[in-house]
Amino acid sequence: MSPQNLDNEQDVASPAVSEAPQAVIASRADMMRYHDPERIQGYCQSCEKHGQYWSCPPFAEPPLAQLGEWTHAVLVTQKTRVACGATKEELIECFLEARQTLCKAMRNSEVDGALAVVAGHCEGCSICTRSLGIACCAPTRMRYSLEALGFDVTGLAEGLAEQKVHWPAHGLPDYLMTVGALLCPSPEVAMRLYSLFRLARDMPQ
Ligand code: SF4
Repeated sequence: MSPQNLDNEQDVASPAVSEAPQAVIASRADMMRYHDPERIQGYCQSCEKHGQYWSCPPFAEPPLAQLGEWTHAVLVTQKTRVACGATKEELIECFLEARQTLCKAMRNSEVDGALAVVAGHCEGCSICTRSLGIACCAPTRMRYSLEALGFDVTGLAEGLAEQKVHWPAHGLPDYLMTVGALLCPSPEVAMRLYSLFRLARDMPQ
């Protein structure tokens, strides 16, 4: 992972500004306290992309059981703050761009058996073969999101990363939150990846 990929985007003219990502290490047991696939995957039914990506519900088999063994996760959160006067469309565009940058950095961090679980649907191909009724053409490129695996993302962010998710009843939120994880086969790998994210966060902007 290149720390430069994770730098703040301090463009004062931008309608939204992404903060440096925060990372915490969580044990598998702690992560599983927020695993509620029936409820969370149920929410996916209202998504317009439901059933169009192999990385998203509905699943023939529980996807978490298909992944390799992991003992710990590096849970990564990033806030994209809304500048004064930003429109909803501007905010969403900036947020998606920031999210894509973070997800790319996380995929580049897949060392020593770590697996990135990134926000949003799989972007392994320009068009997912599921919409064509064909099996995934690049399983090594497929990446799930925490939601698709059945994790309560708000619970993870607030309960483990101590990052409040802001959903106001009216108007724009103060910030949007991206949440992802690197599932690691050992605490040593988790500590190594955690250190990389800390290093990136602590670099002078
Ligand atoms: S790798 Fe391609 S075919 Fe497989 S889930 Fe991702 S987008 Fe779909």
